[in-house]
Amino acid sequence: MSETGPTGSAENPTGDALRARADAVEVVRVLQASGYKALFAGGCVRDELLGLHPKDFDVATDARPKDIAKLFRSTAHVGAHFGVVIVRTGPSEGVEVATFRKDGSYSDKRRPDSVEFADDIADANRRDFTINALFLDPLAAEDSPSIHGHVVDHVGGMRDLEDRLIRAVGNPEDRLAEDHLRALRAVRFAARFDCKIDPCTAGAITEHAGDLAGVSAERIGQELRRMLSHSSRVRAVELLADLDLERAIFSAPGSGSLSRLSGLEAGADFPCAMAAWIIDRQGFAGETRLYRDALCLSNAEHDSIDATIRIARDLHADWLGRPVAFQKRLAAKAEFGPALACVSAVDLSLAGRISARVAELRASPEGLEPKPLLTGEELISMGFRPGPAFKGVLSEVYDAQLEGRISDLEGAKSAAQKLLGSPEPEGGSGV
Ligand code: ATP
Ligand code: MG
Repeated sequence: MSETGPTGSAENPTGDALRARADAVEVVRVLQASGYKALFAGGCVRDELLGLHPKDFDVATDARPKDIAKLFRSTAHVGAHFGVVIVRTGPSEGVEVATFRKDGSYSDKRRPDSVEFADDIADANRRDFTINALFLDPLAAEDSPSIHGHVVDHVGGMRDLEDRLIRAVGNPEDRLAEDHLRALRAVRFAARFDCKIDPCTAGAITEHAGDLAGVSAERIGQELRRMLSHSSRVRAVELLADLDLERAIFSAPGSGSLSRLSGLEAGADFPCAMAAWIIDRQGFAGETRLYRDALCLSNAEHDSIDATIRIARDLHADWLGRPVAFQKRLAAKAEFGPALACVSAVDLSLAGRISARVAELRASPEGLEPKPLLTGEELISMGFRPGPAFKGVLSEVYDAQLEGRISDLEGAKSAAQKLLGSPEPEGGSGV
């Protein structure tokens, strides 16, 4: 999964981003025309002030959910309990409209137990970081030529954004105690937007790093997936180590160089980045199950990370000197590309030689991954009875095919015959 976030370059928003903004402005216009306060809120304001183009816009308002529903033709309530309504006015996916609220207590450290509707000041104060607690009135006169509207800042978020500072809204200790996932969000935003973390906020994060144990592995995994999918992944991992969060997540402190992670291309995907990070930390014998459990990874993600590490290990361990069949089998695997990226990150010259060899193998008459000439059905039609030896024979015959020693079905059959002997007469035991 690649990190979702603002799209388009600073100068050129995508069509989707333009439509999403136009739809959100329309929602604000309708609400304001009916006498309500309505503002863009949170991440979309932050992104616009950074010159980025948000993909989705959240609107915050003093209108109650039932009033919002009356004003628009197409609405859907998401968790009516939390007072959020999705409004569809145009082609975009819909605009989330939330009634200003202050959160109640956090007994499960995850979701507030209750929500109380409130004003925009309280709504800013319940948000995590000052740069995420800004509002923007897109219909008011522009504050400056680069800001499309008027910024409403109750928490000093504008100054922190200018200073590139991640600062908790209010008392950092209290805010982290409410929801310790905020520690990881701080890291993600600091890395993504090249910000420092305010010393008081950083101090509280480190002091309470152990509290992360109370956050579900699933939520931790979601944050780490986003950090590692983004080009700022090295900074994120450095911060995790510096703030003692890496130890809290994996029960092992982060130390040593991040040479593989640093050498990856910006667009590397999550399993590839995860594999590079694990090799950096633990070498090729890295215990990937530890990461799977700590981050609640899917089996597919875990298998892919595991395979990437194993292939990278084989690539370093004289893959170039191995038999053709071995080389082709490995090169045909889905994780070969990510594994090669992990090699390339630390040894460009070896990676270059491996790529050249793959090109040679691909150009061979039988190619890299030919369809097997011989199948189990074929063996059965030759009179052999299915049995445990089938797999090994098919594999050996396929190796011969990959190496160009066999190139047609007849050759494959006679090779199998040599390996299996004559078919057992009817009633004999299977091979
Ligand atoms: P992005 O979507 O790019 O990761 P975002 O700031 O939009 O960044 P969301 O998770 O979409 O993040 O949340 C929207 C807004 O809701 C945030 O900007 C913040 O104001 C508030 N928010 C989200 N999660 C929390 C949290 N755990 N604690 C307090 N406020 C939060
Ligand atoms: Mg968002």
